Amino acid sequence: MKTVQLINNKIEIKEIPFFDNNFNQKGAIVKVIGCGLCGSDIVKIRHKSSFGNSTIGHEVVGEIVKIKSDTNFKVGDCVVVAHHVPCFKCIYCKHKNYSMCSNFKKSNIIPGGFSEYIFVSEMHLNNTVFLKPQNLSIIEASFMEPLACCIRAIKRANLMKNDNALVVGLGSIGFLMSQALTSYNIRAIGVDIIQDRINKIGNLNIENMLFQNDNTTSEKIKQMTSGYGVDCVFMTSGSKSAINFAIKSVRDGGKIVVFSSISDNFLGYANNEIYYRELTILGSYSPSPKDLQESLNLLEYKKVKVERLSIEYNIDDINQAVCDTIDNKIMKAFIKI
Ligand SMILES: [Zn+2]
Ligand SMILES: [Zn+2]
Repeated sequence: MKTVQLINNKIEIKEIPFFDNNFNQKGAIVKVIGCGLCGSDIVKIRHKSSFGNSTIGHEVVGEIVKIKSDTNFKVGDCVVVAHHVPCFKCIYCKHKNYSMCSNFKKSNIIPGGFSEYIFVSEMHLNNTVFLKPQNLSIIEASFMEPLACCIRAIKRANLMKNDNALVVGLGSIGFLMSQALTSYNIRAIGVDIIQDRINKIGNLNIENMLFQNDNTTSEKIKQMTSGYGVDCVFMTSGSKSAINFAIKSVRDGGKIVVFSSISDNFLGYANNEIYYRELTILGSYSPSPKDLQESLNLLEYKKVKVERLSIEYNIDDINQAVCDTIDNKIMKAFIKI
């Protein structure tokens, strides 16, 4: 069967044997229909990531073709699959830091989402595999995991109804984040440097602004928030100017959620701003099973709209999909298997 592997930061399409022997344990084999190309896959491809393993593809939609399980899933079910499962018992899980759990980090779909077939364990079936709601297309359903990442970030920020939030970067994640915030009755203001993205988010009636420079744009944000600044900034993209902009746009006592990996790891936040202004800077990485379920609900009830956000590519063109995403030619790629 065909699978995409990451070898020395290059993606290669390989032919590997079908893995019937994995079937000694409980679980299911899913014939993959397609898989979303995530920003985190691109980070793994571009930068030798020292975080996590190098399995790529985790926004999977497919059909169960073989199953040995105590769950209610059966052959023929069309399912949405995510990759990591926490143990719910360790010190991290007890503190709801699920994505820090060693079981979470270790668990994965085998051999990765960009494959003709994947094996998902019983643990996955119980936690990160869901029936695709009938009213969602395959591509729409593939947004379950990325939207769940946004839901987790919003929960971690612990905001109040009608709070003001600023979303820095309106790529696919910023696009999902803005809508998710709105669905939780939090006011979202989106900012980007690309006009086309501003137009896209404007079509959803989400307040938006083209980024000019940190001073001008943060002044405008202050005007929109009675002079205070926003309660929370969600950084879906990072750069030195974006960090300065976030510090200038957040209100005293507000929060900044770091939500993307950047190549210059040592860009920092100003110590005295954090101290004197009592700012909270927090990171949010990957969703829990509950966030996945909540995400699928938001998609099913069309609280978050994702039609036409992804462009389809065949698996043989996955390298093109990566290039087009990096060059900002597309918002998101969906790889058809
Ligand atoms: Zn993802
Ligand atoms: Zn755990």
